[in-house]
Amino acid sequence: MKNTIAIVGRPNVGKSTLFNRLVGQRKAIMDNESGVTRDRHYGYGDWTGKYYSVIDTGGYVHGSDDVFEEEIRKQVKLAIDEADVVLFMVDVDAGLHGLDEEFANVMRRYQGKKPIYLVANKADTNARAHAAGEFYALGIGDGDIFTISSQNGSGTGDLLDAVVSHF
Ligand code: GDP
Ligand code: MG
Repeated sequence: MKNTIAIVGRPNVGKSTLFNRLVGQRKAIMDNESGVTRDRHYGYGDWTGKYYSVIDTGGYVHGSDDVFEEEIRKQVKLAIDEADVVLFMVDVDAGLHGLDEEFANVMRRYQGKKPIYLVANKADTNARAHAAGEFYALGIGDGDIFTISSQNGSGTGDLLDAVVSHF
């Protein structure tokens, strides 16, 4: 599909909340039945006259430590294959998490192939937005971090401006 945005990251960072905001009332959820893609949701929206599709991924990592990387690799690869722009989401409230690093290790392999934006969510206040600096250590994106609140919408307009510039 053309103009596809994928939201990737560990569970609980706010991916589905952003998804719901991006797709507004146009939400059309289709659950894929295959094992790997079971928890992916697809929706549609538009911004400044540009139409896009959004993929919400689950971020769930099942099994023991030694299969983490394999599971994450599959999820990230699917998202990267399907998307034109990838949003890698982290949570400023929780801070840097071991699973963020696991996802980032895999995401970094795709840098330069597709635009990847580092999105620090739950920046509901300016003070929280400042805490996003610690995520620079992940080495994702072109050095910018988009600080947003999927809950109250702050920062999401700037993020969408950047995303739809590719469409
Ligand atoms: P997902 O597992 O990554 O899809 O995360 P969810 O969208 O399900 O959100 C996980 C939790 O974080 C929920 O309780 C949300 O209400 C909460 N949440 C999501 N976005 C924000 C935000 O911008 N600010 C705050 N304070 N909470 C948020
Ligand atoms: Mg979710």
